[in-house]
This record gives sequence, structure tokens and C-alpha cells, in this order.
Amino acid sequence: MLITGDKDEIRALAQSWRTSGERVGLVPTMGALHEGHLSLVRRSKAACARTVVTIFVNPTQFGPGEDLSKYPRTLENDCAMLEAEGVDAVFAPPDGSMYLQGHASWVLVERLTAGLCGASRPTHFRGVTTIVSKLFNIIQPHEAFFGQKDYQQAAVIRRMTLDLDMPVSITVGPIVREADGLAMSSRNRFLSGEQRQAAGILYRALCEVCTLAEKGTPLEDCLEHLRAAILSQPLAELDYAAIVDADSLEPVKDLSRPAVAALAVRFGPTRLIDNMLLPPGRTGDS
Ligand code: AMP
Repeated sequence: MLITGDKDEIRALAQSWRTSGERVGLVPTMGALHEGHLSLVRRSKAACARTVVTIFVNPTQFGPGEDLSKYPRTLENDCAMLEAEGVDAVFAPPDGSMYLQGHASWVLVERLTAGLCGASRPTHFRGVTTIVSKLFNIIQPHEAFFGQKDYQQAAVIRRMTLDLDMPVSITVGPIVREADGLAMSSRNRFLSGEQRQAAGILYRALCEVCTLAEKGTPLEDCLEHLRAAILSQPLAELDYAAIVDADSLEPVKDLSRPAVAALAVRFGPTRLIDNMLLPPGRTGDS
């Protein structure tokens, strides 16, 4: 497994694979890898002859006062995990190397980035779409793999590749969870024992709303239940609870079309997100 921080080296390697007709898969990450990341690696390995994993804590997707400096960095351990998975190459550019002095270009996706996480992290998606575009340009993968855990991010990236005619297909893998349902996240390690236990409320609340939606409960009641469930947990501070259209991410009037329930919740300084697709069909008054 090649491990490099050199753009030219990874570009040349990926190019050589493409030239010899091998399908190249890309899994972009910020490292501190867990089973959620590895599930995407396995998908890439199953679909592509070659898999590149990138590890880069992208500064431009962190806002002022967010946890950039504290974000976990475990490169050696990450590489050992990826080697064991049979990954072909890891691109881990050093801090500072992806944004040159005078960097002035950004990729902006409108509309889809306005709500949910975009509302409380206004520059976040600009950072994500810019770094992902740069990684696509360097590696030029046939297919790139993202997790449903970051539902809005996956929707934004899919939109970006469509709108900008990027020749890469986007695959989204399901959320990998801990035994109590908490979505795996590199940030879970920051939770105290008590917070970690309390954080199970995200998954429970989403499951309850899914059951309510299946029963035909009206949208407003589903939303109210979601909010109330989080607010009932004293250690949880709600950033947002929303039910939005699964494609447009716009607020929905009823549950007649596929929708997604999405949450962002703080436990102390640690902000966790989670989501669940709600079954379409029954509108509550049918
Ligand atoms: P990150 O390192 O947090 O930027 O995540 C890198 C990729 O892994 C993103 O596409 C995430 O959506 C995905 N990912 C993170 N956590 C999970 C999870 N629990 N299950 C599935 N995919 C995940």
C-alpha cells in the first residue's frame, strides 16, 4: 500500500491505473477511522479494481471556534487499518499543502447547503465541496464513496457532480452504528461516559419517528416527537431537528414523498449528527 502526501505521486499512480483500464474508487475521509469508514472502503474494493483513501483534516470546512485543532489525528493507526483492508493507496497530504498561498477559488452548491447543518455552519459545505473537487481533480476516480451519516453532504456532492459534469459516480453507503444505535463518528471519542450513554437518544428518537411515520402520524406530530425526545435528555442541546424532502432537503408539508429525519445535537462541546429515511406513502389524513 502506497502512503503519500505528494499530489503528483498519487495523481500519476491513479492515472496509470486508469490507463491500464482499472476502475479507481475513492474514499475521502478526515481520518480517525472506524467501521463506518471501513464499510465504504469495502464497498469501493468490491466495485473497483483499485481503492484510494484520502486522509485530510480539511481546515476550510471548520468554522471559527469549531474543533479543527482538536480533531483526532491517528494516521499511523489509520494506515494499519487500511493496509489490513487491502487498500491500494492512501493520500494524506500534510497540513497546509492543499491550499496554496493566495487560494481564491471555491466550489459553491446553493440551495441544498442553506438549511440543516448549513444554517449553523455557514462556510462548512463550501469547504467540503472545494476539497472534494480538488481530490476528484487529483485522483480522477471513476467512483467515490460517501456515508449516509452525512446525509446533506452526500446530497450536496451528488448535486455538484451533476451540475458541474464531473465524470465520477457517487455511491452512498448506509450508516454504521454502535450496539446501542449511536452512529459511529470520529467525534464520539470526545464524549464522557455519561454523555456517551445519553447520546443513544439520537438513534432512539429517529427510530420512534420512523415508527410514527409508518403509522401515518401527521408530519407536525412526528417533528414534535423528535424535538421532544431530544429535549427530554438533559445532557443534550438541540442544534436542529428537521424532516425534509429526501432529494431537495426542503421542508416537507406531509410525508407523501420520501423524506429524511435529521438531527444535530450537542453534548457539551461535541456536536453529533444523525438521520433516518422515513417511509413514504401515508399522509396522516388518509
Ligand atoms: P469523515 O472522516 O467524518 O469526514 O467521514 C468520511 C466519510 O465516512 C464520509 O463520507 C462519512 O459520511 C462517512 N462516515 C462517517 N461515519 C460513518 C458511519 N457511521 N457510517 C457510514 N459512513 C460514515
